Amino acid sequence: MIEQYPSELLEKAVQEFSKLPGVGRKTALRLVLHLLRQETDEVLQFTETIARMRQEVKRCSVCHNISDSEICPICSDPRRDESIICVVENIQDVMAVENTQQYQGVYHVLGGVISPMDGVGPADLEIDSLVERVKEGGVKEVILALSSTMEGDTTNFYIFRKLAPYTDVKLSIIARGISVGDELEYTDEVTLGRSILNRTPFEGH
Ligand SMILES: [Zn+2]
Repeated sequence: MIEQYPSELLEKAVQEFSKLPGVGRKTALRLVLHLLRQETDEVLQFTETIARMRQEVKRCSVCHNISDSEICPICSDPRRDESIICVVENIQDVMAVENTQQYQGVYHVLGGVISPMDGVGPADLEIDSLVERVKEGGVKEVILALSSTMEGDTTNFYIFRKLAPYTDVKLSIIARGISVGDELEYTDEVTLGRSILNRTPFEGH
């Protein structure tokens, strides 16, 4: 493959870009050649931005959303209702719910769902820290907003059992206008916003 390009450095750069999701070697070469045409300073700024993001972006110590500071802007916003916690799988889901502009509470990012097939158990997720938040008090409602998949359901039920002792905390689930198997982040804003407003009490079976 290396003989395909006149430069080994170029080949290496193409290899790096091809590691990105959805980027094949053809696209990678196009991007690399584009960078090669830019001023050196501009390319350095590009690489520095990526490196800084990777090194400096943190996880919010409260909700585990990404943040530049110890506590994310949502958790530190006094206008947000801290008594309502929306439980989501990942940071894209936080963005999806935020885009609906229908939700004034705070979040808890699990970092995935329970999936024995993929070797993901409850201990791999931020479930204990969710229970801790509830235990600390001041929480009136926990909204489950996970995907309507078998793994999502398993996780919902696990959280339901974990939070069962806290009887004064309402546990609700977003309305399933979302068809089974749909990932939360792919749902359109109107549907997602409506499903949060029309949430129903979660009944464990
Ligand atoms: Zn936060």
